[in-house]
Order: sequence, then C-alpha cells, then structure tokens
Amino acid sequence: MNEILLQSTRSSLTANPRQAVLNGIAPDGGLYVDPLVSQRSFDVEACLKLSYLPMAEKIMSFLLPGLEDGIASGVAAYPKKFSTKAIVPLKHVGDNFVLELYHGPTSAFKDLALTVLPHLVGAARQAEKIEEKICILTATSGDTGKAALEGFHDVPGTEITVFFPHNGVSEMQKLQMLTQEGNNVRVAAVKGNFDDCQQGVKRAFAKFNESPVAGRIFSSANSINIGRLVPQVVYYFSAYSQLMNMGRISYGDSVDFIVPTGNFGDILAGYIAKLMGLPVGKLVCAANSNNVLHDFISTGIYDKRRSFVKTASPSMDILVSSNLERLLFYASNGDTGFVSDCMSSLSNEGVYTVPDSIMNKIRADFSSDFATEDECSAAIAKLWKENNYLADTHTAVGWAVLEKYRHNTSNPCVVLSTASPFKFPSAVLSAIGGETGADEFETAEKLSELTHCQIPKNLSGLKEKEILHNDVIPVEELVEYALK
Ligand SMILES: *Cc1c(COP(=O)(O)O)cnc(C)c1O
Repeated sequence: MNEILLQSTRSSLTANPRQAVLNGIAPDGGLYVDPLVSQRSFDVEACLKLSYLPMAEKIMSFLLPGLEDGIASGVAAYPKKFSTKAIVPLKHVGDNFVLELYHGPTSAFKDLALTVLPHLVGAARQAEKIEEKICILTATSGDTGKAALEGFHDVPGTEITVFFPHNGVSEMQKLQMLTQEGNNVRVAAVKGNFDDCQQGVKRAFAKFNESPVAGRIFSSANSINIGRLVPQVVYYFSAYSQLMNMGRISYGDSVDFIVPTGNFGDILAGYIAKLMGLPVGKLVCAANSNNVLHDFISTGIYDKRRSFVKTASPSMDILVSSNLERLLFYASNGDTGFVSDCMSSLSNEGVYTVPDSIMNKIRADFSSDFATEDECSAAIAKLWKENNYLADTHTAVGWAVLEKYRHNTSNPCVVLSTASPFKFPSAVLSAIGGETGADEFETAEKLSELTHCQIPKNLSGLKEKEILHNDVIPVEELVEYALK
C-alpha cells in the first residue's frame, strides 16, 4: 500500500499514520485527519461480504497504511476478548435495530478500539525505531479509562495514566478503574468534571511539546487519537452487512444510525465510513441534557457557556466535544484557518459560530436531538415492557431520540448500544420499576433476577477485587501529575 499522510485540522502539518498514532494530538494542538479519505478508492461492496475480523483488517489497513502488522495482531485479539462470535451483534428490536457494542472485556463500546490501539502503538513504536517509553494519558468520562487500562496494562514499553472526574462516573465504572492491576498503570480521580480532565490532558501535551521529557513520549488513548477512531469505523460496515444478510436491505440502500454522543468520536467514525462510500443516510447525534451538540447542529452556534449537568448517562456528560473539530475540517473543505479560529474562539470566549454554508453541509449528513433524564428512563421502561429488551442509560438516550426522529425517515434505523445495562444497575433497575439493593452489586443481582439477563463476569468479579488506586487531585495539579 502507498504511504498516505495525515494532516492536522489546524495547519498544513502532516504525519504518517504511525507518527499520528504515537503523537495522539498534532503538535499544533489539532487532530489528525486523512484529507483525501473520500477520494481514495475503497471497494465497499466486497468489504461487506467479509466477516468481522477480515472486514476489520481491510478497513483499518485502508485508513492506516503502514500499520498492517499492528492491525493484524490487534484484530486477532477480538475473539479472545469478546464474548460473542459476531463481535458486534445486530438485534431486531420492534421495527428498528440495535447494534450491541458492549460484549468486550469492560462492557462498553470503547473496547472495540482499545483492544486494538495498544497493538497499533506497539507496531508504530517498532517501525519508527522509538527507544523512549510511550506514556498514554487518558481523560475519561467513565468507560475509556477502564478500556484503556485493560488494553495497555503490562504492555512493554508503555505506561498509562487515567484521569476521571471524582464524582462523575458510575460506581461500577469507578470500581473497574480503582481495582486495575498492572505495573505500568496510574489512576487518579480529579476534583472536576470530564471537561476539566480533558483540558488538563491537552495542556499536558502542550507542555510536553514545549519542553520534552527525556526518555518519554506522550500519547493519548482518547478519541482525539486517530488510532482510537479507526477501529470504530468497522462496526458501521458490520451493521450494514448484517442488515444485508438478514435480507432487510440491498446493497446501496441508505441506513440511518442513531449514536449516543459525548465526545463526538463514535459518530465521527460513522462519518468516516460514509466518506469511504458506505451508504449511510443520516447520522443522528443523540445527546443527554448536556445538549450542546444538539444546539450546535440546530443553530450553528457552539456555546459551552452553560452549566454542566450530571446525568444517569455519565459517559456523555461532556460540553467540549473534541471530535467536532474533525467534522469542521471536512465540512469546510479542509479550511485549517477556519478550524483554528473556531477552536481559539472556543477556548478564549467559550463559543464559536459556523456560517450557514458550512452548517448546511453538516445538516446534509447529520441530524440531532436530545433526551431528558425522564425520557431516558421512560425509554428503558418501554423497551423492557414492550420489547423485552434491556438497555443501558446511554443506549436509552439513543432510543428516546430515535422515537422523536423516526417519522423523518423511511430508512432502516440502527441505534448504537454503547454499554451493558449492568454498568449502571441502579438507574436501569429503577427505570423498570425494581427496588435497588444495599450496593451496586446487590442491585445488579436484583436486576439480573428480574430480567433473567446475565451480569457480565468482569463486573460481578469486581466485588472481590482490592482497591489499588487512591489518588485524588485538584484540577490544577493534573499537568504536573501527568508529566511526573
Ligand atoms: C464514550 C461513551 C459514549 C459517547 O461516545 P463518544 O465517542 O464520546 O461520542 C456513549 N456511551 C457510552 C456508554 C460511552 O462509554
């Protein structure tokens, strides 16, 4: 395969895919994108005939040429780590479809990418002949942290540090992280919200770029890293292929995807699939009460100056959605000056406005809506009562938005299911009318008894595990902690 160059969203800086994966974020603060992805040719129809593993290899090798070795070993890890042969089974629920992305080792969709990313980093490190240790810095709204720890713990040549919002994740999510074993891992609770964690990590990268630390290179396991997004492109193809195999669509028919959204990474992966030629109709951005993205898509004004709401879908409690920057790049035909202006306006004034000409392009591909807390819990109840389908709080936000959106389209609709209901047992059990127990484990047991759904072993097993991480730090100390 020919070498391709990825480009920063903020300038003409380029990097090959290996360097991009190692850097995480571009030195100018921008995110790496493939400016020519829609012009390079990809045989979509042939790809749709493949099963998940060869399909994943094909798509990822197209998007990240030069990393084939890492891709092959990363993809080979899926069957060992996922509990279903299909990897991402598509379920028929009512007149619609749910794509279950949570059958991996930490019961959230982040596993699809973080099973592969350590292999990409390892292969890139080797090919680029890097001697330094790769230090992964990760901000998490709940699920990335554990999935990244699971992927990177004890990987030679790497170290991983995770920052999570002190009171901003579910009890299960917190326990998953605090009990993480491994001799190269650090976990710190930050007295702030996810945005504070993510800004802190970005500041640490900026500081490192100004004054490098000997013997170490910093990278990211967040969806700002292109190596995080690429594995997520695959399951859009898989969903489409499964719909074809079910006889629901023929090749060429449009399919709409409803995506519970926080950092805009998951939905952007769907956009990349569309740029590669997959017949995607609308990508529907589903937000919770932190509905900054819905407001943006409706008005063209991105305004983070609002209060941060803690919801039952904590992994979507985000006001600064990093990956929107990549969409702005594509929708402005690669106008890096425009993207830079938006991003500096966001960090200086907390707001930016996108002109109609660009918004109209965005609205051709994206639709949006949001669900309140009541609507989310009503969706869990309804899905359970009417369809005997147990959904987590994030998936339920997607489902609630689907119900508002359904009359706008005649395309088949696929809701992305991003986490296991047992990661949020209290919220889910209350929603279906059960009484919660003394702790999350008892509540999970009750949920399991009531619904006859099984608790994933990685979650039930947490009860026996020892807490290994106790650091709680103020936001101001994050950069120092990260670079220590
Ligand atoms: C991370 C996450 C999301 C949001 O995905 P983004 O890529 O950040 O938009 C939604 N649901 C769950 C369960 C998550 O862990």
